Formats: sequence, structure tokens, C-alpha cells
Amino acid sequence: MESRTGLSLNIPVLDKPRVVIIGGGFGGINTVKNLRNKGFQIVLFDKHNYHTFQPLLYQVATAGLQPDSIAGPLRNIFKGHDDFHFRLFKITAIDPDRNIVSTEAGDLSYDYLVIAGGSRPNFFGNQKIEQYSLPLKSIPDALNLRSQFMQVLEQAEMTNDATGRKALLTIVLVGGGPTGVDTAGALAELKKHILPKDYPALDFNEMKIYLVEGVNRLLPQMSEKAGARAKRDLEKLGVIVWLNTMVLSYDGKTIFFKDQDPIDTSTVVWSAGVTSAAFPGLRTEWLEKGRILIDENCRVIGAKNIFAIGDISLMKTAKYPKGHPGVAQVAIQMGKYVGINLAKLQESKPMNAFAYFDKGALATIGRGKAVADLPGNIRFGGRLAWWIWLFVHINYLISFRNKLLVFASWIWNYFTYDKGNRLIIRPYSRKDVLPVVDKAHSNKQDETKIL
Ligand SMILES: Cc1cc2nc3c(=O)[nH]c(=O)nc-3n(C[C@H](O)[C@H](O)[C@H](O)COP(=O)(O)OP(=O)(O)OC[C@H]3O[C@@H](n4cnc5c(N)ncnc54)[C@H](O)[C@@H]3O)c2cc1C
Repeated sequence: MESRTGLSLNIPVLDKPRVVIIGGGFGGINTVKNLRNKGFQIVLFDKHNYHTFQPLLYQVATAGLQPDSIAGPLRNIFKGHDDFHFRLFKITAIDPDRNIVSTEAGDLSYDYLVIAGGSRPNFFGNQKIEQYSLPLKSIPDALNLRSQFMQVLEQAEMTNDATGRKALLTIVLVGGGPTGVDTAGALAELKKHILPKDYPALDFNEMKIYLVEGVNRLLPQMSEKAGARAKRDLEKLGVIVWLNTMVLSYDGKTIFFKDQDPIDTSTVVWSAGVTSAAFPGLRTEWLEKGRILIDENCRVIGAKNIFAIGDISLMKTAKYPKGHPGVAQVAIQMGKYVGINLAKLQESKPMNAFAYFDKGALATIGRGKAVADLPGNIRFGGRLAWWIWLFVHINYLISFRNKLLVFASWIWNYFTYDKGNRLIIRPYSRKDVLPVVDKAHSNKQDETKIL
């Protein structure tokens, strides 16, 4: 069908059941891999033409890795797959009555639908925070953050206003989960080993990195031991950790808290939680807090031919009454499960219930510093945990090329104490926000000096 954009989805009509998959993240790509040669036509939609390895986004944001080392083109991942079609489109709606998904290039019917659209940052309805803070959920987000970090340093060197410079050199990370902890540690190491050489005129004692968490510990999804160790290691690196601290608002210049004094800052990184990526057309009884309720077969409760997996799904079991954790392993295992079991469903064979195998959790704090919670109640931190973290992340990267690029960058960073990606390729600007150093503070003399 031709659309108003003049484009057409151009999916051939075959005598095979069609599986439409929304999202080429961890869940989606594992579904496709496991559907191969099982007699289906597979159509994968994603709004990006690449898969993103989200656990390493913070390294792109903090100049440790290039963006393309943690992304893999979806067409390349599935090259040579028969009856596989990738379409670079955002799904704008789902019509479960007519078995149709909608895109800007028209509608497409499905026999089976797998929703693997992941999650998006949760700003808890606070529009100001959404407007002014920086999330870290995608590669464009990571590039925005990297540019912002580098831009504020450039600006700090060019201002003689002490208050404005302090705000430029203050970074507040909200959310003490793995993203906040990883990013805080990486920034602290940049500050310690690299930035003083790049900006010799700046006094890096003025640079403050805050990590703010609403509950009483870091890494709330991991053991208390891991949270305590992460806090201790971050504080040793100079990060200021505030626990039990609720953020009230941020206006682009000052961040306000419930029980703490406000802080003037140009940079607030928001990683305080996620909510699911909603799709218009899904019945309200299928949703709980935005996530899609699924049964033990990953099938949307109340639907016959719609499955949901990964971050967007909510499967309540005796072991996980509030659903599974929002981690890559859940999405990977659900993706594999659905891929394998759709063939059984097609042949009217019974499906076994999905069982999540928890392989444990890891978080890194910095060079030689990480925490690990492994199955069997094995909990430890330090250099061994860091090596395990390195190995696991390399292992799960999408292609050999990605593994090689990341490995080479890490070796380089390790031996040189350098991070070669401190580039402002695409300047970041919040058009509607006044700069922290307003015009009243700068004077002609300063401008002349800069020139
Ligand atoms: C910064 C960060 C750090 C993380 N660190 C870890 C970690 O250390 N360990 C860990 O296990 N987990 C980590 N996670 C969580 C992990 O990445 C997620 O649990 C996992 O990616 C979920 O997989 P998914 O397939 O459900 O969704 P995703 O991987 O998010 O994939 C969803 C895909 O759907 C696409 N999409 C969304 N909406 C549409 C639409 N309307 N139309 C078309 N396509 C669409 C998106 O472009 C995306 O490609 C981290 C997440 C982030 C953001």
C-alpha cells in the first residue's frame, strides 16, 4: 500500500505465516535469530537501523568508546537470512482487532506480533526535568552528553565569573543504579587522569561530580554489599554521593532537592528510572503502569497472537511477583524463548513456561573497580569483579568487529590513561535554555582576552 510519504513497505506476500517484530534491541534480535529457517516470513521494524548495546552507552558519553563500537547495523546482523525483511520505521500504532501495525509508510498485517520496544526514561511527569536534564538511553543521547561534558569544560576555561564557572564544572547525576554509578566513576577518572592535561588553566578542585539517589543505598537492584562498596569506591574517586535525596525540579540552571540545598549546575544527567515505550492501540486491560502484561509463555494476556518481551513486558510469577528486572538477560532469554516457541505454536504443540535463569549482576565503578553479585550468593568487588565485567561485556557485544573495537579501545585507555574520543562532533544545545553564565556576568575585557 502507498502511503502519504510516497514510500511503501514493499513486503512480499508469501504462503508463510508472517511474524512482525517491533524493536531490534536485545529481545528483538534474539527472536529473529531463533525464528530462522522455521517456515516464517520475518519483518523487523526499528526506528534506528542499528542495535544498541545499552550497557556501554555511558562509555560513549564519557569519551571512552566511539559510538559505532557499541552499535551493529541490523541489516548486517541478519544478512543472508531467508524471508527476513528489515524496515527502518517507527511503529505508530497497533490494531489487534485487524492484526495490523501502522507506520508512516502504511500498514502491515501480521500473523504473529512480537513487541520488543524496550523502555524510555521516566521523568515521573516532571516536565521541567524532562526539558532540561539529559537522559542516557540511546546513542544520540550519549553523543549529546559527551558534547555537553566537553562544551561546559570549554566554556569554563573561557569565563572569569567564578559562580558561572562553578556551575559549568558541576555535574549532577540523578539515579544511583548501574548507569549513574558507571557514569560517575568514568567522569571521576576523566577528571583525575585526563582533563587537567587538556585544560591546564582550570582548577579541577572546582569540578564537582554529584551522584544523587532517592533511596538509602546505591545499586538498589544488587546486594547491600555491592551498593556499599560502590559508594565507598566512588567517594574515594572524589564523587559526592547523596542518598535518600529526592530531586524536586531543575530549571536548566539550578537543581532543587527535598532535603538538601539547591545546586547550581549546567548539567543534570537523568537516569532515575525507566517506563515502557507505549504503543497506541493496545487495550488498556493489557497494560499495567505502561508495561504489557504477559503470561508464562510471553503472550499478551487476553491476546492470541501477540507476544511482548524484555523491558516493555510484565510477567508476574511466584518468584518475580512484580515482574522480572529490566536487564538485558531477561530480554535475551525471552527473545530466544519466543523465537523457539512460535514454531511450536504454529504446529499446535504445547509450549513450556518461560523460566528466567538469573546469571547475576555486575556494575563497574572505574579502573580495576567493580562489584559482582553472582548466583549462589557469591558477592565480591574489586579487580576480579572488574575483569569479569570486562569479559562479560566484550562477550555480549553484537559482532566480532564491535568486540575488537571495544577491546582495542580498552587496551589503549588502560595503558595510556587516555580516552581518545573527547570530541564535540555534533554540538549539543538546549535552544530554549539561557546559558548559565548570563550576559550580565561577562564583560568586554574578558571577551577581548579570549579572542
Ligand atoms: C544506560 C543503560 C545501561 C544499562 N546497563 C545494563 C547493564 O549493565 N546490564 C544489563 O543487563 N542491562 C543494562 N541495561 C538495561 C538493558 O539495556 C535493557 O534491559 C535491554 O536493552 C532491554 O532489551 P529490550 O529488547 O527489551 O529493549 P531495547 O534493547 O531497549 O530495544 C528496544 C528497541 O525497540 C526500538 N523501538 C522502540 N520503540 C519503537 C517503535 N515505536 N518503532 C520501532 N522501533 C522501536 C528501539 O529503537 C530499540 O532498538 C542498561 C540500560 C541502559 C539504558
